[in-house]
Amino acid sequence: MNKFLILNSLFLLSQTSNPESKFLNLKKQLEKFGFEVVIELPPKRGAYGLLREADKKIWINPVVFELHIGTQTIIHEAVHAAQVCAGKGKIKVLGLNIKPSNYARPFFRRYTDVRRQDLEREAYAVQTQPNSYELAVSLLQKHCK
Ligand SMILES: [Zn+2]
Repeated sequence: MNKFLILNSLFLLSQTSNPESKFLNLKKQLEKFGFEVVIELPPKRGAYGLLREADKKIWINPVVFELHIGTQTIIHEAVHAAQVCAGKGKIKVLGLNIKPSNYARPFFRRYTDVRRQDLEREAYAVQTQPNSYELAVSLLQKHCK
């Protein structure tokens, strides 16, 4: 599916207050805070999403829409964006008082770098909360204004 078709179908879905409208709203928020969001294969093989700190660019792998994890994926990257804002361009842990669900454990455990593991643990913690979308929006607004 090409980029235009994906965006177009997301737009149509957003008209019916589908979960995908959350994806679009979060994308808009990220862009407002100076992040560039592209729906393309990330430069890191196998990644669903990726944020490059240097130029605040976020990749969302188009496959996430087929897997119905588009919103989850952008929520995850939005947490990393808030981490970048909090560190004034240099990514740092926000220090949230929430824990990721157990099923998310293998996902951040595979990062061998301890610092990276902390950043990922936090992103997965937000992503697995029942109010993950609202939480991600509030973190962006708090740290990126
Ligand atoms: Zn991550």
